[in-house]
Amino acid sequence: MEKAKNSILIVDDENANLKVLTHILGQDFTIFTATNGESAIEKAKEYKPDLILLDILMPGMDGYQTLLEMKKREDIQKIPVIFITGLDSEEDEEKGLALDAADYITKPFSPTIVKLRVQNQIQIVNQMIIIERLSMIDQLTNIANRRNFDDRLTMEWKLAIREKTPISILMMDLDKFKHINDTYGHLQGDMILQTAAAIFPKSFNRPSDFVARWGGEEFVVLMPNTPLEGALDIAEKIRSDIENTKMPSIDQREIKVTISIGVSSVSPTLDSSVDAFISGADKALYAAKEAGRNRVVTHT
Ligand code: GH3
Ligand code: MG
Ligand code: MG
Repeated sequence: MEKAKNSILIVDDENANLKVLTHILGQDFTIFTATNGESAIEKAKEYKPDLILLDILMPGMDGYQTLLEMKKREDIQKIPVIFITGLDSEEDEEKGLALDAADYITKPFSPTIVKLRVQNQIQIVNQMIIIERLSMIDQLTNIANRRNFDDRLTMEWKLAIREKTPISILMMDLDKFKHINDTYGHLQGDMILQTAAAIFPKSFNRPSDFVARWGGEEFVVLMPNTPLEGALDIAEKIRSDIENTKMPSIDQREIKVTISIGVSSVSPTLDSSVDAFISGADKALYAAKEAGRNRVVTHT
């Protein structure tokens, strides 16, 4: 599969400049253009380009102001900006870099140098994307990791308080998994974890339902705007899907696993404890294990 091209937003009030820069960069990158600061901000929000090339002298908002406005907006403030400008004094360059521009290129420019400097920034962007991915995704199962889950929980908890909506959580733990590893080997155990992780989202009703690997053979599902009854439906569907799946095996052996699930639901207020919410699901999970495994138990 061919790798998707990185994208660049070029902002300049003169069409001739847009044309030259598009010519230089268009082969390697997807190009968006804007001819003033206001539309640059709009397009940055819409397309989320990987990099912005920004002219300084423009009618209306100039490049400095445009950059300042972008830095105020959470959704686009991290996009690196290279000034590309006729202002070639040391003071102007200092001002640009002090505003946190990634680089500063003066006109007239050498096409090759523009291209190389753009490539440098894009390389940094791509490294950031890899780092962010590594820090948020569990390597074995390719679903969200614990850190990712914690971020999401904090966000959804606040939202649930503000919107006065119920939120539910499932704590899930594969049954007798140590036995699976001991019987079939660790690699086979890993394959089952991967398969289970791929099965969970099939039971979800909404894009906001969120599954993460909590650690080991434990997983967690967060369901915003979902009361207990809805959460129980999904938990039961997950439980039965896992029970009824013939796990792919290294040889042709038939391997079945089961899962125990603890459910906790709350309509949180400012006085509610997120820790109690989690430990409620944890206690319910423990009760499910005690009661014989392969079942869904609600925290009361
Ligand atoms: P229970 O039904 O009470 O949950 O029993 P259990 O054996 O699943 O629970 P226990 O916590 O005693 O053991 C969990 C096992 O899960 C231990 C370890 O061998 C296995 N495990 C944890 N992480 C991984 C992993 O990344 N890969 C594999 N293959 N196994 C793992
Ligand atoms: Mg287990
Ligand atoms: Mg466990």
